[in-house]
Amino acid sequence: MSLDEYKRKRRFEATPEPPPKLEKKAGHRFVVQMHRASRLHYDFRLELDGVLKSWAVPKGPSLDPADKRLAMQVEDHPVSYFDFEGNIPADNYGAGSVMVWDLGTWQPLSPVPVDGKYVPGTDAEANAMLSKGDLKFRLKGKRLNGDFALVHIRARRAGSKGNEWLLIKKHDEHEEEDYDIDQYDSSVLTKRSMDEIAGDEASAEWRSRPSGSQGKLKAAWLADAVAKLDQQKAAKKTTTKKAQPQRAQSSTEEKKTKKPRLKSA
Ligand code: MN
Repeated sequence: MSLDEYKRKRRFEATPEPPPKLEKKAGHRFVVQMHRASRLHYDFRLELDGVLKSWAVPKGPSLDPADKRLAMQVEDHPVSYFDFEGNIPADNYGAGSVMVWDLGTWQPLSPVPVDGKYVPGTDAEANAMLSKGDLKFRLKGKRLNGDFALVHIRARRAGSKGNEWLLIKKHDEHEEEDYDIDQYDSSVLTKRSMDEIAGDEASAEWRSRPSGSQGKLKAAWLADAVAKLDQQKAAKKTTTKKAQPQRAQSSTEEKKTKKPRLKSA
């Protein structure tokens, strides 16, 4: 495993993204980041062997098994990237706004089903499936749940780098026909919209996740991530003289209203 390519593509004095550090812990978190770069896409990342294996999914994941979503494998990312939300400045690699669209844990599924059902597998099996180009796994997230597969496909176009995969939902109780990703347009970490993330941090603050919601977070690592974000916000707040308008806390319910797809920056 190496983060060399991740390092090579970035200037860490200019981007708020985390440095290329390899983790020794064998965690199994996953993150989906909505990324409004030159083209809007979703970055799908699975923690394995101290890095985040990463794919860029132009249309984003789907819970409808009929959708086969193109997923371009990109360079491994450092594990600390999993809660990165913010803005990559212009003229930097991936310039644009990044929203934490989903977070959770994952487990590899054994390639050999038992009584027709997929059962949890090992990291060794996960690595073998990755090499073979058919990774089966189970997600436990806030928005994505159930069994999925990432299947490596042959190049469909001339000049392909051979990094094309398909992200496919398996049939199970979590499948959702005609799944529409556009109805989920806020951060699972801060509740902010992409425009709020992209806009002035101080003025957007009053609209963000109500404070004190850490107590409702079940996973300790997620609470840590939110606490870290709060610290960053507090640090920024001390540098701004503007008073923060108070407003009634909005409902923490998921927004279900349909909104037009965000345009690329
Ligand atoms: Mn991206």
